[in-house]
Amino acid sequence: MEQKRVWERIIEEKVHGAFVNPYQDYESEARLKEVMNQAITSISSLKTTQDEDKCYLGTPNCIVDTEEGIAKVKKEVSIPKTSSSLEQVMEEVIPYFNGMYNLAHPKTMFNVVPAAGIPSMMGSFLGAMFNPNLVEQDYAGNIAALEIEVAAMISKLVGYDEQKSIGHFTFGGTGAYLFGTKLGLTKVLGKETRFTGIREDAQLLVSEVGHFAAINCSDWTGLGSNQIRPIHLNRDNSMDLNHLEETMEACYKEGKTVAVIVATIGTTDAFGVDDIQGISEVVDRFVERHKDVKRPFIYADAVIGWAWSMFRGYDFETNELELSDDAKKAIQEVYNKVQHLHVADAIGIDFHKTGFSCYNSTLVLVKDAKDLDLLARKGHDMAYLYQFSAYTPGKYTLECSRGGNYPLTAWCNLKYFGLDGYRAILAEHVEAEIALRKLFKETEGIVCLNEEDHGFVTLFRVYPSSLKEKYGKDYARMQYEHELCDEAYSEDLARFNQFQLDVASELRRLTFEENGPALSYTSDFRVSDYGQPIASLKAYPMTPFRNDHIEDLQRDVVAFVEKAMRAVEQ
Ligand SMILES: *Cc1c(COP(=O)(O)O)cnc(C)c1O
Repeated sequence: MEQKRVWERIIEEKVHGAFVNPYQDYESEARLKEVMNQAITSISSLKTTQDEDKCYLGTPNCIVDTEEGIAKVKKEVSIPKTSSSLEQVMEEVIPYFNGMYNLAHPKTMFNVVPAAGIPSMMGSFLGAMFNPNLVEQDYAGNIAALEIEVAAMISKLVGYDEQKSIGHFTFGGTGAYLFGTKLGLTKVLGKETRFTGIREDAQLLVSEVGHFAAINCSDWTGLGSNQIRPIHLNRDNSMDLNHLEETMEACYKEGKTVAVIVATIGTTDAFGVDDIQGISEVVDRFVERHKDVKRPFIYADAVIGWAWSMFRGYDFETNELELSDDAKKAIQEVYNKVQHLHVADAIGIDFHKTGFSCYNSTLVLVKDAKDLDLLARKGHDMAYLYQFSAYTPGKYTLECSRGGNYPLTAWCNLKYFGLDGYRAILAEHVEAEIALRKLFKETEGIVCLNEEDHGFVTLFRVYPSSLKEKYGKDYARMQYEHELCDEAYSEDLARFNQFQLDVASELRRLTFEENGPALSYTSDFRVSDYGQPIASLKAYPMTPFRNDHIEDLQRDVVAFVEKAMRAVEQ
């Protein structure tokens, strides 16, 4: 027998073992399970014990937290010449999880970054095993049906007609926003603009605290971020509809087309929810007044707030989930706005935020599938695709390849949790928010900044006790109210912005050195009445693993914030 060449031996000895065997074969499956088993055991050993109660994995060292660290990593790394065993690779990769926040841990509260549900992880893993590609149905088989099913489930939830609507998954809330922007621009300015380019200063209107995706999307579509018109805010951080209407009129007078209006359904910092029904009425009046304009496209950036639509059909009267009165009120208040999502022409939905699935999983849902004809490329531009498929989203998506993992993760979570599961998780997180604010109210020196918004997130500022002499016990609130409304306090606002940052830095130190919580800081959650940025500390509780809200949050948050305040005051 002829001797095998070296490369042939490598294929047999190494390469075969690195793929899922195409044939049913007990031995190779057993091996895969064994590697999984070992990897899960090994990575789980990085989790904290109950006694230690750390909110991060393993040890807190990060190898890329300085410029020198990054340079060193780049210098030392290279591709190995010979491959190692799978076990060896796992053993080498797992230490990289050291120091990462453990997102399911009750003390991890820095942003809208959830732990991923196991159903979503399994969906993602199964997808990884057989690698469906949603460029067209032929490349994904019935996994394409999952995309269609999730889009239809969510359509029914938000009040779209699922036969008319269409949805596809994309790389994030930003991808959905980009899709909405592109579709809106094309619909309002005309299909020709896809070939000639956009040659007019069409306007994108979004509230002052809308996500910076507005900047990316206007920039990357070639519209230019100067064409964004920020709309002022109400006290509850939602868009001021009077200012929206005035701005639209101003655009009209200037001869500029209002192309896209973005309604933010749950802002990232404060969880402000725009009144989308009201926005739609403003648009109705605008097109009624001006017969010569095209109706602006309404995009709902609902990546966080969409989840409240899980309460569609919930009877708040009988309240079968036994929500507390406070939680019921808070949820109902948000739901009352979210229930009108269907007036939007397209909606962005992040499963990887309030859907608790692993990254990335975002759906962009379009109310009228016919709109997509505007975006489709011609067949001869994509000659190698779409010869045999009925379902061909790749004809109009920005992406060519799109992983089947996107809908797999979302679908498995939706099926597992169901309405009751999601409602219970939302209730849990809202209860945590309520408890935290109650504690803040009782604590001297802390004031909640987004009292009128009822997501999970609480924004707060802290003030030194030296102010007590001037104002008495409620000094934090009184000082903040002056800073918010009265320009005479502009210097104070700037000075105490720095105080927030100092406390945030101290809290960060406590996280790693004294097992404190992981909170965060935003330098500009909104501007004051006289236009100056307001910095804020931020607590975003997002775990189903808390015992007693009041007791735990007192120990894990309030006590550490007080400690950090005292340290900075000195
Ligand atoms: C997070 C967020 C985005 C961006 O979504 P990604 O999934 O992170 O790309 C857009 N809008 C709002 C309101 C967000 O909170």
